[in-house]
Amino acid sequence: MITRLKQLCSLEGVSGREDAVRKYILQELASSPAEMTISVDALGNVIARVEGRKRTDCTLLFAAHMDEVGFIITGVTEEGYLRFSAVGGIDSSVIYGKRVKVNGHTGVLGGKAVHQCKEEEKTKAVSLDKLLIDVAADSREKALAIARPGDVAVFDSDFVNLEGDLFKARALDDRAGCALLLELVSEVPEYDITLAFTVQEEVGLRGAKTAAYGVKPDIAIVVDSTTAADTAGVPSDKQVCRVGEGSVVSFMDNRTLYDKNLYDRIFQTAERIGIPIQAKSMVAGGNDAGSIQLTRTGVKVAAVSLPCRYIHSPSCVLSHKDLEATLILLQGLIGEFASGEEED
Ligand SMILES: [Zn+2]
Repeated sequence: MITRLKQLCSLEGVSGREDAVRKYILQELASSPAEMTISVDALGNVIARVEGRKRTDCTLLFAAHMDEVGFIITGVTEEGYLRFSAVGGIDSSVIYGKRVKVNGHTGVLGGKAVHQCKEEEKTKAVSLDKLLIDVAADSREKALAIARPGDVAVFDSDFVNLEGDLFKARALDDRAGCALLLELVSEVPEYDITLAFTVQEEVGLRGAKTAAYGVKPDIAIVVDSTTAADTAGVPSDKQVCRVGEGSVVSFMDNRTLYDKNLYDRIFQTAERIGIPIQAKSMVAGGNDAGSIQLTRTGVKVAAVSLPCRYIHSPSCVLSHKDLEATLILLQGLIGEFASGEEED
């Protein structure tokens, strides 16, 4: 799974430009031993209806998004710098001086040097509209040969194993979810399941809306990454969740009130299997569940997330142990939910 995750993180897929990720996922699905029907809808979501070892009447959907946050070029200055807007939620405090890739060229997110800033500016994060991408072009024409308005840029940051159990990469949100879904079909799953690899999550949960409409699920489990604020100086009640302490299950976030029965059964499943699990302890963020829940006449939703430090930055940090435990949990949930037996 980790080899696949590294490959997924090496691909660029800013929202709306998920082509490279989609191509990779289609190739990987084609190599699965499970029988499946694959389709791609008009927005670019990949839907795989997978036959398991056992039939079920319950349409159980697992969804992960292919897109990542990034930048879209909005113009070029006379001096040869690229103007841009953020695509998705980017924290402006993390971007000054960072390296980006645009159409295969390296650029740097640049702006006023700190010694040129006024006193009051020095203590504030630089606002995004004060920054430009420096692609080392010395004229407008040279810059336009590199990128034109509407082209996109991503953080340029490699996959690196850190000390102990952790690793960092760009776009782990949500290529880690994509890798987990692919892993679910590396063998024939216990029951029939449906996988959705969605587009445009980072700009308003858009792909999931049409994907869920097409799939018509009875139950949907969104597999994503969520903010782990277990870092220096954050009080324990504001940490949301902790890296290395297992999958994170949400009861509520800014977009969704989750199905309580599913929530409880996910905890019971983890306890039965004997793997760590934690509740997302703050009502914050949102994911594709927000769109899926409100599709057609409504869908029961749950979210199983990986605790991720520095999400939406060039260096998202995850734990190998959390990734492995989440795979085991998701496999357990196929038996728990797709068997179609309701429990209270
Ligand atoms: Zn995400």
